[in-house]
Amino acid sequence: MTHTSVAAYAAPAPKAPLERITIPRRELGAHDILIDIKYAGICHSDIHTVRAEWGDAGNSPIVDGNFPIVPGHEIAGVVTEVGSEVSRYEAGDRVGVGCFVDSCRECENCKSGLDQYCTGEPGMVNTYAGTGRDGQPTYGGYSTHIVVDENYALRIPDGIPLDGAAPLLCAGITLYSPLAHWKAGPGKKVAVVGLGGLGHMGVKIAHAMGAEVTVLSQSLRKKDDGLRLGADHYYATSDPATFERLAGTFDLIVNTVSANLDLNAYFELLKTDGTLVQLGVPENPLPVAPFALIGQRRSFAGSLIGGIAETQEMLDFCGEHGLAADIEVIGAEQINEAYERVLASDVRYRFVIDASTI
Ligand code: NAP
Ligand code: ZN
Repeated sequence: MTHTSVAAYAAPAPKAPLERITIPRRELGAHDILIDIKYAGICHSDIHTVRAEWGDAGNSPIVDGNFPIVPGHEIAGVVTEVGSEVSRYEAGDRVGVGCFVDSCRECENCKSGLDQYCTGEPGMVNTYAGTGRDGQPTYGGYSTHIVVDENYALRIPDGIPLDGAAPLLCAGITLYSPLAHWKAGPGKKVAVVGLGGLGHMGVKIAHAMGAEVTVLSQSLRKKDDGLRLGADHYYATSDPATFERLAGTFDLIVNTVSANLDLNAYFELLKTDGTLVQLGVPENPLPVAPFALIGQRRSFAGSLIGGIAETQEMLDFCGEHGLAADIEVIGAEQINEAYERVLASDVRYRFVIDASTI
């Protein structure tokens, strides 16, 4: 294959609606695979990014020069062509691509399976709105095809349908990694804050790991779903009694909320030595009251997706436990409408774009 143009959906400018465009995909290098994209999940990070809500945040500055942005880092598809030295995949394989498509491969983190925390050059290369080794912008999964290095693709187990698998590439690994790191399992009480794309995978995975799972949602609107997904308990955070009843309860709280919460109220729900892991990336800083942590030696931590090896481990875990995302498949022309529904917490529980409609 030569350098070619493929169809995609892109935000042409900050806050602008997404529209169909064509983008270049690079010529297949020796270690590259060409993937025929079947499905791409819509992550709330896609929305934060194209609306430039992370303009000044941390190490993910999105500036006007990044546009047009083709979002999408929950990609599932089928390999159609492989480079001359590819050894891991062949045509016909079912594969996924997540949030990054390259890293330095040489730093301590890359060598120990923490490539999402790559400290070398070029650092972790985001699947979209990043810059690849070739100096070209990266474009994500709202597209018909993608070319990636075989070392940054994942194998999707046969038992998982491709549409339900796509969201595992971000939502799945983002919850699996901290749940594994902080040892969610039998005897552990875990709370998942926010029952959206990330949260619903958190409930499924924590339950499969054997933990006692509680959902903390804004209301009881989705309680039946939460219990069906594997939660043991479900409480509304709009009810102040929730915070009294659950004080000092949890070993681990994973906060998936995309907006600013009063975290200090949630710290009080941790046991002595409990940890609250921040996963959501709201636009504004989150104020911390020191006494809420100091009093019970509590920890406040963060976690970013997971490494490539751990993402494969997560996919295999989901395959063994029969887990996939609960999804609503949409056509590409519905992307802008789907964004509004995500913002209104009206998603059960992930929108997945059928790439054949692009
Ligand atoms: P999502 O599907 O929109 O889910 C977020 C959930 O947060 C909503 O379903 C809602 O749950 C709750 N929520 C929303 N607005 C709220 C508000 N004003 N007050 C209280 N609760 C509210 O989003 P997502 O795709 O799961 O992503 C969640 C966040 O994680 C985003 O900020 C995203 O950028 C970030 N993220 C981080 C990583 C990482 O590596 N750390 C990876 C992917 C995404 P209820 O209706 O149940 O209350
Ligand atoms: Zn994501």
